[in-house]
Amino acid sequence: MSIELEFCGATGEVTGSLYVIRTAEHSVLLECGLIQGGRAAEERNRDPFPLPIEDIDAVILSHAHIDHSGRVPLLVRRGYRGPIYTQNATRTLCEIMLPDSGYLNEKDAEWENKKRAKNGKKPIEPLYTQEDAENSLSQFESVRYDELVEVVPGVTVRFHDAGHILGSSIVELRFADGTHTRTLIFSGDLGYRDAPVMDPPYRPKHADVVLMESTYGDRLHRPFAETMEELGSVFEVASANQGNILIPAFTVGRTQDLLYLMAEHFDEWGLGDWTIFLDSPMGIEATEAYAKYRHLYGVKLFGPDSHLPDLPNFHMTRTTEESMMINQVKSGAIIIAGSGMMSGGRIHHHLKNNIWNPACHLVIVGYQAHGTLGRRIVDGTDKIKLWGETYPVRASVHTIGGLSAHGDRQDLVEWYASFENRPPVYLVHGEPRAQNALLEHLKSELQAPAIIAERGQKIKI
Ligand SMILES: [Zn+2]
Ligand SMILES: [Zn+2]
Repeated sequence: MSIELEFCGATGEVTGSLYVIRTAEHSVLLECGLIQGGRAAEERNRDPFPLPIEDIDAVILSHAHIDHSGRVPLLVRRGYRGPIYTQNATRTLCEIMLPDSGYLNEKDAEWENKKRAKNGKKPIEPLYTQEDAENSLSQFESVRYDELVEVVPGVTVRFHDAGHILGSSIVELRFADGTHTRTLIFSGDLGYRDAPVMDPPYRPKHADVVLMESTYGDRLHRPFAETMEELGSVFEVASANQGNILIPAFTVGRTQDLLYLMAEHFDEWGLGDWTIFLDSPMGIEATEAYAKYRHLYGVKLFGPDSHLPDLPNFHMTRTTEESMMINQVKSGAIIIAGSGMMSGGRIHHHLKNNIWNPACHLVIVGYQAHGTLGRRIVDGTDKIKLWGETYPVRASVHTIGGLSAHGDRQDLVEWYASFENRPPVYLVHGEPRAQNALLEHLKSELQAPAIIAERGQKIKI
């Protein structure tokens, strides 16, 4: 049997997940993620795919995050008409996230073209549009956890819970030619053992080859109880100040984690004195997806027969009018709004109304990339600009680092340790420092045959 895997993305970096699997007669794309992180890197999204579109027979996605799914609409725009296999909750989340990604691409191109017009340069096309993204959705094939599906003759896929976000999967691929069977396990993104909502990742026992993410291969998360104390004390201080609390939140995962934690600690954190708003249309849709697929995780996030989180003073504000009503609340509101890195979205309106007020609190619960407004605030800027106006930063800024959707080094090493046969493990989806640290630990603790995957590298399975 001759099965080859080529590493085409998320090598030495965390975004742009993309692998090509070739059998004697077929080619399968494992992942089709967007490259993120600055203009130069993102230009690479426009490069040709690593094989002619007409040679691709099937696509498999581990989960809905854009760095794993975000080039699917581009693939379809360039002519791919075949199936896209993914777990059924992932499909639902892609229906929310891919059109939004298309919309953002259109806005980006519009902005770029304004600049180009001034300099007499030719306009550019968006990477893909909202319509391209909507067109791609009909090619999605839903697969349940543990279901076996043949994607091309001789290749079957099975998804297992990766515990990272709703629908996230560890991808098991089996190759059979009548006499031999070979198994490839791709970890996808692996969840954190103390994640509030998601269950811990599934632990496979056997594989011939493993691809494993390594995002936090050099880090141990702080104990979860400390993070809870930290969050609790923010509510306590804020309650004494009589201001509002703003929480910029990522649509999928972090928002639902927060809602669950607030319900869990409702009395302890004195949340009965507050009105809680989820002010994000996408965040609301994602929360509804968590309600629809509530059987996929162990904790109770929603009341029985309800699509609302189990919080008595909770409001989801979908329309612009409802969102604007929040502006009249001068104190006692907890406002969860996107975008997570404050690069756009409704959080800008709330910053405008609150950031200058020393009684207010801004609680940062997620990673802030370089170059974003969120990062500038975390780094201590004393003023920000919104719609051409300057506002002083007088609100208290709290950074809560312990809420992670990714496992840390301990999780990663323990996950690999469950493979009884110690198969070769290729590290992907990580920056070099994290990968080197993880490699050392896998070798010294488990004598694992671990290798850092390189872009363009081809291996036999
Ligand atoms: Zn992810
Ligand atoms: Zn990822």
